Amino acid sequence: MPTSTPSPMPHDAVIIGGSYAGLSAALQLARARRRVLVIDDGRPRNRFAARAHGVLANDGRPGAEITAAARAQVAAYPTVAFRQAEAVSVERIDDGFSVVFADGTRTQGRRLVLAHGVEDTPPEIEGVKERWGRTALHCPWCHGYEIGGGPIGVLGRGDHAVQYAAIVAEWGQATLFVAPDFPLSPEDAHLLFRRGVTIEPVPIERLEGEAPTLTGARLTDGRFVPLKAIFVGAHVRLGNGFAESLGCEMNDTPMGRVVRVDAMQQTSQPGVFAAGDLARAASNITLATADGMTAAHALFRSLIEEEAAA
Ligand SMILES: Cc1cc2nc3c(=O)[nH]c(=O)nc-3n(C[C@H](O)[C@H](O)[C@H](O)COP(=O)(O)OP(=O)(O)OC[C@H]3O[C@@H](n4cnc5c(N)ncnc54)[C@H](O)[C@@H]3O)c2cc1C
Repeated sequence: MPTSTPSPMPHDAVIIGGSYAGLSAALQLARARRRVLVIDDGRPRNRFAARAHGVLANDGRPGAEITAAARAQVAAYPTVAFRQAEAVSVERIDDGFSVVFADGTRTQGRRLVLAHGVEDTPPEIEGVKERWGRTALHCPWCHGYEIGGGPIGVLGRGDHAVQYAAIVAEWGQATLFVAPDFPLSPEDAHLLFRRGVTIEPVPIERLEGEAPTLTGARLTDGRFVPLKAIFVGAHVRLGNGFAESLGCEMNDTPMGRVVRVDAMQQTSQPGVFAAGDLARAASNITLATADGMTAAHALFRSLIEEEAAA
């Protein structure tokens, strides 16, 4: 066993966010017998969906069941602690980081993993909110197969609307709803034609059907377009300012602002790692899990380097 002076800090790593990315990081660190605190307030991004898909060995299993199983396995390691609470601020202190909870208490750790995910900002169209994750979706890879074909809508948002519609068209007869002034190049029009996508320039007034069921979209000119589901390109925001308050550099992506990390999930701030949706433009459970593992390995390496130098 290596020799090192024990740190006076209560935790080697504090992980904010105990879902796929955070639990994955915690598992790795626990297996290295490191003292880990996982903080989570129970709002994973996919909580609106009944089931998760495309996750190896867990295809079709409710997302909450996957995290519950992961959490039970992580909790079996003696060096892991959980706190079900909201973290409200973080700051760098001597030898590490201090995290403040909503009730005013605080904790400290030598390293910090930001794994608190993102929040979706679906468009303000009547009927989207109550169908989010059920028939108003953002990821065709996650839920496209279960629609079972038929008419599906794609809400054009931003520069990637055409590419997005071309992908989504694999899972049904797609109609792309775009603004009347949407710039459609001849190449775009050709791609959409070859993918069988209908272009609809009249805006949607509301989604109809008994939510979460969707029967179609009512347009502002009164027409009704039958739909089984509608895809809405993901737009996200970070739910808090932790990364920015620590001075982490950010990346602006077509989906929103995320934390900039290197290939090992290290942020621009020493000792701060970021994993999962908050540190990538497009994500899913598998990628978030991989990020958590990568962050943990890099974090562990930074600990042993510090200990060896002491
Ligand atoms: C509707 C929907 C359906 C989806 N379906 C699928 C699917 O079928 N398959 C798939 O692979 N992917 C799916 N995804 C994507 C998947 O949900 C995300 O990629 C994944 O959840 C990212 O994991 P994460 O750990 O980064 O963040 P999250 O899972 O979002 O977890 C973040 C955690 O941090 C906690 N947290 C946040 N802020 C704080 C704070 N201040 N203090 C304490 N805790 C905090 C939250 O409570 C949450 O538990 C779906 C996404 C959506 C929106």
